[in-house]
Amino acid sequence: MTQHITVLGSTGSIGTNTLDVIARHPDRYQVFALSAATQVALMLAQCARFAPRYAVMASAAHARELEQKIKDNGLQVQVLHGPDALETIASHEQVDAVMGAIVGAAGLAPCLAAARAGKRLLLANKEALVVGGAVFMRAVREGGATLLPIDSEHSAIFQSLPEDPATWPRRVQHVLLTASGGPFRTRDPATLCDVTPSQACAHPNFSMGRKISIDSATMMNKALEVIEARWLFDLAPEQIKVVIHPQQIIHSMVQFVDASIIAQLGTPDMRVPIACGLAWPERVPSGAAPLDFTQLAALTFEEADARRFPGLHLSWQALAAAPGTTAVLNAANEVAVAAFLDGRIRFDQIHAVNLATLEGVLPSNPDCVDALLALDAQTRAAAEQAVRRFQ
Ligand code: NAD
Ligand code: MG
Repeated sequence: MTQHITVLGSTGSIGTNTLDVIARHPDRYQVFALSAATQVALMLAQCARFAPRYAVMASAAHARELEQKIKDNGLQVQVLHGPDALETIASHEQVDAVMGAIVGAAGLAPCLAAARAGKRLLLANKEALVVGGAVFMRAVREGGATLLPIDSEHSAIFQSLPEDPATWPRRVQHVLLTASGGPFRTRDPATLCDVTPSQACAHPNFSMGRKISIDSATMMNKALEVIEARWLFDLAPEQIKVVIHPQQIIHSMVQFVDASIIAQLGTPDMRVPIACGLAWPERVPSGAAPLDFTQLAALTFEEADARRFPGLHLSWQALAAAPGTTAVLNAANEVAVAAFLDGRIRFDQIHAVNLATLEGVLPSNPDCVDALLALDAQTRAAAEQAVRRFQ
């Protein structure tokens, strides 16, 4: 049966890869709605190609611009805008699956709407889970949603775990998240204060959005992924380990109590976890090239250097601190990364802003989405102040 899909963040790196996979299987998947922040031209092209019922832009001005172009091109797409419209297309009764590929906490509310409406939720938007934590997982349970990880490490863990989650606690010892180490893995840490946004965005194996590219360079991406794994698989923080694996062939692993390890391998191409989430428990072609083992020189592993990547350990610290601290860490980091990309702070000051903000904002057990969003806003203000102090 055809599945009707909403793609939140369709113009981004994950969004366009998702549409690439969908386009390979027109008999299986039909696009119901697309969303983007500001990219009108690309959204118009996607509307022409996929004929969704709805296209949602972030602002009224961008929606008007798109609407005019939709009309000029004789297309039949309803254009909406703003956060409520995102929730509408995420929870619409005609939608079967929602790809959450907005970047940052902006994706939390629509992902929650999809969860509450019991959708199949394909989650790339890790920040939504880092902010939402227990509140997010409760919405998934209560809504009867199926939460499928798209982040490649979490897809790998999901694929390596036994099917029945009830067996995980007695079988699983820990999970090992692999990390590329980013573009500065071998750079002298003393020179990290000099790096530019374009150097930091030059990921060795992937072309990704700018925010996650910076997070990969600081390894804050892995810190967010540790928190993401804690919630997705209900693990204790100490059951989540990180190892650097620059080739990104092993996407992550699960170690069982008998010391057996199951890993998931493949070429580094996000269409693999996307196709896995779309089709699960079936498998469909993703468009990715298969791995040629005879062409692999070596698979290497190393420990993450705490001097070079001081942000990585903030994940375990935030998980051990008061509930809501992971939301504080996420908001601080979003502000710090944006400030770095704008040339307002240095690369090494991203961590300094995160630390200062974590010290300044003490959450009081946010137990609903409104409380989380208030904490997010409060933290952003505090992080902005920290940025100004460093400027
Ligand atoms: P991106 O910047 O390329 O795309 C983000 C998308 O979200 C765009 O369509 C943009 O228009 C939209 N968007 C941004 N801000 C918005 C807002 N305030 N309101 C509504 N829409 C908004 O990012 P990406 O690399 O595709 O990453 C998307 C998410 O997937 C992130 O959470 C990232 O951590 C996660 N992820 C990405 C990759 C990857 O390879 N790119 C891998 C794993 C996980
Ligand atoms: Mg990842």
